[in-house]
Parts: sequence; structure tokens; C-alpha cells
Amino acid sequence: MNILLLGAPGSGKGSQAEQILKENPFVQISTGDLLRNALAKKTPDGLLAGEYMRKGDLVPDELVLKILKERLREPDCENGVIFDGYPRNVAQAEMLDGILKADGKKLDLVLNIESPFEVLMARLLSRRVCSKCGKSYNMISNPPSADNICGVCGGKVIAREDDREDVIKNRLEVYTSSTKPLRDYYESRGVLFSIDGDRKIPEIYEDVKMIINRKGKN
Ligand code: ADP
Ligand code: ZN
Repeated sequence: MNILLLGAPGSGKGSQAEQILKENPFVQISTGDLLRNALAKKTPDGLLAGEYMRKGDLVPDELVLKILKERLREPDCENGVIFDGYPRNVAQAEMLDGILKADGKKLDLVLNIESPFEVLMARLLSRRVCSKCGKSYNMISNPPSADNICGVCGGKVIAREDDREDVIKNRLEVYTSSTKPLRDYYESRGVLFSIDGDRKIPEIYEDVKMIINRKGKN
């Protein structure tokens, strides 16, 4: 099964992916993570992507497509993929449809997690991540230990470079103008399920799980 998690920055896509992975043989593909890895390795693609990410703008479609295609070539994608952060505009959605179709595959479910702007902003401002293993924390709802050490790997827990108020504002605007139209795109294809994201992670996951299981049975 191939699932797309659709939702604004801060909507909790990553947290839901984490829950889904515990119970299903899928892999998660986050284009944000792929781009940040490329940037950390200082590859030419990564350095170019960094210019856009720092401002909260979308990285050019061709560049993201290239790293996505490389990732999809790996054999672990056969059992199903959770797409997180891709597609982010209609052009990317069309490209993804094309890639999947060429492989005899398709998107089976699009889970659209909806939350109010103020909630997203507050969550992103208090979000922290482990600099080593990428585990997510939140200074309000799920803080790391007092000395900001990751409970999983012992790495240093830090704020992401693009989780600053001005950059967050831009990311949310980009979401509204570019990514939100995807709701209509997938709605008309009959694969869209909208979920109230202004709740606790396990409560949201109950809905997510029900939708996935229902799909798995037919
Ligand atoms: P968030 O969803 O919280 O904004 P991500 O980690 O998904 O965080 O993405 C971080 C940044 O990476 C985005 O602001 C954008 O610059 C870039 N990015 C990620 N995915 C894409 C994509 N599919 N197309 C263009 N840019 C992307
Ligand atoms: Zn860690």
C-alpha cells in the first residue's frame, strides 16, 4: 500500500508516520529528510537545496524529483511507501503519479491532516529534533531531558534551522498557496481522507489506523 501524508508543516505527519511504521511493513520517504541529508553531506544538490530551505521556499521540482527517484529505486520500497512531504504542488503530484504508474503502482490513500494556523505555529516554535538520529521532541508536549540529550541515542537535541518564526510563516504561506490545492486534486480521484489534526498523537493515529485497515481489507 502506498500512502501520502498531506498536511501543513507542524501538522504531525512525521509523528503519524512513526506510528504507522510500527504496525506495517512500509518505509517512510520524507523529501525534507532526504534534502537535509544531502545538505549535511554537502553534495552539490544538497547545497543548492539548502538555499531554498533556509528561506522556507520550495526546492525546485527537478531537484526534488531526482533525489526522490534515487530513493524509490531502493528495494525496500516494494512493500509500500509512506510519502511525507512529497508532493507539495500539483506538478509534483502529476510526476509522482507518472513514476508510480510506470512501475504498475499507485497512491492508495491520501491522509490529509488538518490543523489551525495558530496550532501549527506554536508547535513548530516549540519543536526540537535530535541532531544525530532525527527523533522529534517538543518543549511543551514531549520535552527531552533537562540537558537536551536525546533519550534514544544520546545525541544533542536542537531546533531545526527553518523553525524560526519568519521562516515558519513563509512555509505556512507556501503550504496554503502550493500544497493545499492538492486536496482537490486527490479528492477528485477518490483517495482523500481528511483528519482533525488538532488532537493528541494517539487520538489522531486511531483514525489513521482505522482508515488504513479499512483500505487493506478491500
Ligand atoms: P515541513 O513539512 O515541516 O516544512 P520538511 O522537512 O518536509 O518540513 O521540509 C523542509 C523543507 O525542505 C521545505 O521547506 C522545502 O524547502 C524543502 N522540501 C521538502 N520537500 C519538498 C518538496 N517535495 N518540494 C520542494 N521542496 C521540498
Ligand atoms: Zn537521537
